[in-house]
Amino acid sequence: VTPVGPDCVGVAVLGGDQRPFAARLRDFPALMERLPATAVDRPRGAGPLRQRVTSRVHGRALLVGDAAGYLDALTGEGLAISFRCARALVDRVCSDEPERYERDYRVITRRYQLITAAMLAAARRPSLRRMIVPAAQRLAPVFTSAVNALAR
Ligand SMILES: Cc1cc2nc3c(=O)[nH]c(=O)nc-3n(C[C@H](O)[C@H](O)[C@H](O)COP(=O)(O)OP(=O)(O)OC[C@H]3O[C@@H](n4cnc5c(N)ncnc54)[C@H](O)[C@@H]3O)c2cc1C
Repeated sequence: VTPVGPDCVGVAVLGGDQRPFAARLRDFPALMERLPATAVDRPRGAGPLRQRVTSRVHGRALLVGDAAGYLDALTGEGLAISFRCARALVDRVCSDEPERYERDYRVITRRYQLITAAMLAAARRPSLRRMIVPAAQRLAPVFTSAVNALAR
């Protein structure tokens, strides 16, 4: 649940369930209670949002943000990566070496690619998926370190 403005929140439901958004929202009665009855607007988008990108550089046209490649919203770091890449992109364009941005992108996103891909792979296996939240609870310091590593 993401605050968007004084009278607006974005609500995203993550998971593989194919039911309509309103039906899935009913699985969260505590959240429904806090939303006004008329609050649920039409869905603004639906995943999967993965963007596979083979190259982010074409001459002086460079890709940044989700357009440069995207795995999943799972780890909540799309903006941090986008801002770091935007800075690298501007630096490379200003120094007239745009081709070097591709490597910058790989360095900036390496940890995200590894951890998020591992989380997604685990989530695809029901036996592992069921263990993720209990394991995060039991190994709270390890989980906190992983989150902090992603946020750095
Ligand atoms: C459910 C969910 C939760 C997330 N949670 C987090 C989080 O907690 N923290 C975090 O950092 N990131 C999070 N992200 C990721 C983050 O939202 C994205 O990484 C970020 O918004 C990417 O910015 P962007 O500018 O590349 O793309 P976008 O924000 O998608 O912006 C692209 C813009 O281009 C516009 N557009 C598209 N096509 C056209 C067209 N043909 N002509 C003109 N305009 C067009 C779109 O309308 C949009 O406004 C989340 C994503 C999702 C889906």
